[in-house]
Amino acid sequence: MRIYLKQLELGPLQNFVYLIGPAESAETAVVDPGWDVPGILKTAERDGRRITAVLVTHTHFDHINGVAELVSATDVPVYVHKKEEGALPVEPASRKGVEGGYEFSLGPLALSFLHTPGHTPGSLCVSVQDKLITGDTLFIGGCGRCDLPGGDPELLHKSLVRLSQMDDRFIVHPGHNYASQPTSFLKDEKRYNPFLQAKDLLGFMGLIGAVRK
Ligand SMILES: [Zn+2]
Repeated sequence: MRIYLKQLELGPLQNFVYLIGPAESAETAVVDPGWDVPGILKTAERDGRRITAVLVTHTHFDHINGVAELVSATDVPVYVHKKEEGALPVEPASRKGVEGGYEFSLGPLALSFLHTPGHTPGSLCVSVQDKLITGDTLFIGGCGRCDLPGGDPELLHKSLVRLSQMDDRFIVHPGHNYASQPTSFLKDEKRYNPFLQAKDLLGFMGLIGAVRK
């Protein structure tokens, strides 16, 4: 099945906001609407898409800034990990708390969530066919910070090990435009991204410059 996927770079922190859905019908999810909600709505309208869900990979402000505005414009549910549900600035009725392994569909297109804690306790990746939206867990050539409140180097290392065991053919769609290219094959991340190559926790801690507590 063909996929509609738009990657928009928005805001002062080089966030990537994604619009994703099946190419053959209009159902569309917006992932991490942190900035410029009017621009997101305009893109959807121009492309003939109907926004039916919001997904958030985690609840850092730069990923959820626009959630309330987008929900009031579209009245769609916001999918978030249960551990971070409370941090979402929308009414409980608009929240849909999920856990890893949760699957749902946009028309004929199936999406599934992976729980990849470490950057935050409820960080999620979203897999859709060969696309892997990685939020701030995995960047092109890098990974998210784990020294912020709620961050945990051990959990992030485990999550990255898990991602490194996934199929080479996945295309990584990160949460920020921090690299010289906006996406890459997971195969190449396994080969070139040092954070995916750390053999053990100690090696990983050395890479991120963490101090053992
Ligand atoms: Zn973050």
